[in-house]
Amino acid sequence: MQSSHEPDRPVAGLDLKDALLVGALVTVCSIFGIYTAPPGVLAAFWPTNAVLVGLLLRRAHPPGAAHWLAAIAGYIAADLTMRHGWPKTLMLTTTNLMGVSVCYGLLRRMSGDMRGLRHPRSMLRFVLVALSAAAAAGVGGTVIHPALFGGTRGYGFLFWFSTELVNYIAILPVLLTMPDLARRTRRGDAPGWRAGHLAPLAAFAGSLWLETQLGGPGVISFPIPAMLWCALTYSLFATAGITLLFSMWTLLAIASGMLAIGAAVDTPQAIMSLRVGVTLTALAPLAVASVMVARNELLARLQHAASHDPLTQVLNRGGFMTRAQSVQASAVLMMDIDFFKKVNDTHGHAAGDAVLTHFARVVAGCLRAGDVLGRLGGEEFAVLLPDCAPLDARIIAQRICDAFAAQPAVLEDGVRLHATVSIGLGCRGAPDTPIGTLLSQADAALYSAKHAGRNRVAS
Ligand code: GH3
Ligand code: MG
Ligand code: MG
Repeated sequence: MQSSHEPDRPVAGLDLKDALLVGALVTVCSIFGIYTAPPGVLAAFWPTNAVLVGLLLRRAHPPGAAHWLAAIAGYIAADLTMRHGWPKTLMLTTTNLMGVSVCYGLLRRMSGDMRGLRHPRSMLRFVLVALSAAAAAGVGGTVIHPALFGGTRGYGFLFWFSTELVNYIAILPVLLTMPDLARRTRRGDAPGWRAGHLAPLAAFAGSLWLETQLGGPGVISFPIPAMLWCALTYSLFATAGITLLFSMWTLLAIASGMLAIGAAVDTPQAIMSLRVGVTLTALAPLAVASVMVARNELLARLQHAASHDPLTQVLNRGGFMTRAQSVQASAVLMMDIDFFKKVNDTHGHAAGDAVLTHFARVVAGCLRAGDVLGRLGGEEFAVLLPDCAPLDARIIAQRICDAFAAQPAVLEDGVRLHATVSIGLGCRGAPDTPIGTLLSQADAALYSAKHAGRNRVAS
């Protein structure tokens, strides 16, 4: 089958457009890196490789040959634009691609949660990947540094290794954790915004300012508490952005003399040490943010499990009663499946379970948005009906009664099981009637419905 006809692959035209976009981005990032490089040495801030890896990983489909060719063309175009000449251009492009392919290959193998840094151990794995990719680029450096700049192989390795390590660790987390715009809700990673949420950001800005006022080598770590606070408050993506800001700002402030750390950073070794050190400092908040995402997801799952019935997936008694306190119900329904014991006795417990699941589904189909269904225990269910006149409540109850009687539960072996339900209706007389009174009323009405012959609504 043609790839353009498969639903999972983009059509060929779109794929090509996509590849051209990758190529253009590589060119733009590379020209930016070349322009911002200090004279005489290779670019100190080279965002291209990390941006390319992030881009290729975040696309909905794995990149094809067109994307890789476009990326190579992008590197070459940028270098040729800067009149680097073919030998230098090809050597630089090869070294860049060595790091990129190792980084992409290793991240591609990870699970989505691990790659998106949403796993407690994500940061450790991520650092290993960054070290491997930086080492791959370093190997290229052992060849091109002596050839292009007349330096030693060892220095070539260290220069490329440290530069690439900094770029991958600082930039890639932002791209890996960027929210998917097509699927906005990210589990455990979408804290709502309040004015008080600006406090960690203000503390972060304050600590950056304090660094410049006090000076000395220790100031580099001053923003760590504020960054940890940010990690505990903001999303993983925002924390990644803040740590990138920290790394870039600290290095720029030291380079420009705004931040006086009291030690000379004038040898290549000192520069490399500082850059790697500052970047690694930013890993701690990122690791905290990762653990927070995993913890929030776990907490959400735990809360759901504690308040829901595992069989029917509706609220359990505890969850229903908690909701009953916050939802202003104007009517409640108390429902009990008729002769349910007989279902169990005749067809087995599994058949009984199937009838319960079927019942919950039928009821949910009869309710309005905002109505709350819960399983109070056994074959007994209840519904909270907010903003509902007594007549409408009765209509809803009758609808449930009729729908359940009309739709049999279909068992696994194909057997169709007909059952009925009795429903008691309780309506709020005065606005201050407690929910407990309303439930007791509905319970008494249910008793009447059973006595009047079952399969009916009583109030
Ligand atoms: P009535 O019409 O008076 O309500 O009669 P009934 O048989 O429905 O009522 P009864 O209270 O005598 O029986 C309820 C049965 O529900 C007894 C119990 O074994 C069964 N039951 C409770 N929880 C579950 C469950 O989770 N799964 C299954 N299959 N049965 C359950
Ligand atoms: Mg019962
Ligand atoms: Mg019953």
